[in-house]
Amino acid sequence: MKKFVQVLLVSLILCLSACSTGTPKEEETTNINASYDVAIVGGGMAGMMAAAELAENSDLEVAIYEKAANLGGNLPYTGGVIMGFNESTYPEVADSEEFVNYFRNLYQENINLGFIEKEDFTINEELIYNAFSLYGKPVKFMLDAGVPFPDSENFNTRNYGGTIYSNFLSITGADEGSDTCFNFLQAITDKLENYSNVHIFTNAEVIEVLNNENTVTGIKLKDGSEINTPNVILATGGIADSEEYMKEYNPGYIGHINYTTGLSTGDGITMTRKFRTEILGIGALGGFVSSDSTWVPLRSYFMIDGTGNRFVNEAYSDYITSYIAYSEKRNNIYMICDQNYADANPEEIELKLNENDLLEFDSLESLCENLNIQYEQFQKTVNAYNEAIANKANPEFDLDYTLGNQITKAPFYAERQEDYFFDTFTGIKANEKAQILNGNNEIIEGLYGAGQLILCNAIEIVYAQGGTGLSFAAATGTLAANTIIEKVSK
Ligand SMILES: Cc1cc2nc3c(=O)[nH]c(=O)nc-3n(C[C@H](O)[C@H](O)[C@H](O)COP(=O)(O)OP(=O)(O)OC[C@H]3O[C@@H](n4cnc5c(N)ncnc54)[C@H](O)[C@@H]3O)c2cc1C
Repeated sequence: MKKFVQVLLVSLILCLSACSTGTPKEEETTNINASYDVAIVGGGMAGMMAAAELAENSDLEVAIYEKAANLGGNLPYTGGVIMGFNESTYPEVADSEEFVNYFRNLYQENINLGFIEKEDFTINEELIYNAFSLYGKPVKFMLDAGVPFPDSENFNTRNYGGTIYSNFLSITGADEGSDTCFNFLQAITDKLENYSNVHIFTNAEVIEVLNNENTVTGIKLKDGSEINTPNVILATGGIADSEEYMKEYNPGYIGHINYTTGLSTGDGITMTRKFRTEILGIGALGGFVSSDSTWVPLRSYFMIDGTGNRFVNEAYSDYITSYIAYSEKRNNIYMICDQNYADANPEEIELKLNENDLLEFDSLESLCENLNIQYEQFQKTVNAYNEAIANKANPEFDLDYTLGNQITKAPFYAERQEDYFFDTFTGIKANEKAQILNGNNEIIEGLYGAGQLILCNAIEIVYAQGGTGLSFAAATGTLAANTIIEKVSK
């Protein structure tokens, strides 16, 4: 996560400047009352990869409607981290069974960690299998487009609740350290624009899916125009920016720092309400961020809450530590270290002190007094922690003792951990071919879903691996398009 966050920070800063200058050339106005074979609503990763599949493998006339001024959705704000590109799999991607296993294990681990009850949620393994069977296609499209993936960097192995995910699932940052995600997006949009059967409309907000009973007939845009089409792919993303949906489905995350674009307003959910489509999934994916500009939390392995207790194995992915803190309603959370740690990590400490991220105290007592932490319990926690490090065993939390430093030498440092989130799981029910179902679990003829809008069919609560969101979006966008191609070729 640490590396991921660094990449993310760099890309956030660079994208803010780069994205405003290099606008892709897209068609600016909508065609009133036009007809297309396929209308894609939303031009994020899922919508773009749906268009790519249709462009490369059909003669169907395809229109993408994107409500923002540019394609990309959340993509330009990500760390560009995506699954399947690493030494052993690049440029091939691994077998789709591997991806199914990843989601299956994740489901089981979420149960083991007590995050979900078995009866609350089941994953649609067939959907995952079908989507990732096609994952080589968007990967190839991105490689052909020139998305600047380095050859084989393999920087991120995740510790998810104790499981270390394998090399296969390790991930690669695109063009790390430069204007990563702008280049990522630009390469895709440049290639899409070269297809004569793909028409891109930006500043084009879709407000309704038109239908004749259970069959799709078109879409309606905010400007009043109606588009006739027998096939609509909804790829509208998550709900993080909808106050109404966050209140209803993820109230606990209100007040956490939200890193999405402002475009994630759950429009796909709103547009399928008239079909009484089932809404699935709760939760959001996030982590801890240091209180200001250094962003990456202190790398110490001693985390406590306001009661003065440790509560988690600090080596877990911060997706997990932050979720545990959230679900156990723990607050006032700090990473703590002492001068021994500072001596071993002078650059990190200096940077954080310069940026006012770290608070410095000459005694543990004054640390507690100033931070509103219960001192007596804190002292016991420090003693137990020091003993665990000395004994090279930390049975309570199973922390690898080589990671920890004893807390003994003044001054002592504390860094507050702030919660952030960037992905939400609430979405709509789809079948194994990415077709959207109505309230009676019947296929709505001509209506498909892709990306974060249907991620709820595969995951609830938390995922382990950076790259999951973009990869799932690319795979399911391709699947939705592929289902349409199969239908029309019959
Ligand atoms: C800060 C941040 C960092 C992230 N880092 C990573 C990472 O490194 N790796 C990873 O795998 N995932 C990452 N994610 C998650 C990832 O961004 C998402 O999972 C993925 O982009 C979802 O793609 P999508 O196409 O489904 O949705 P989105 O990217 O949200 O795209 C949806 C699009 O639909 C458009 N839209 C919505 N409603 C309408 C409407 N009514 N009419 C027309 N258009 C509409 C929106 O404007 C938007 O462009 C990150 C997310 C954030 C916010």
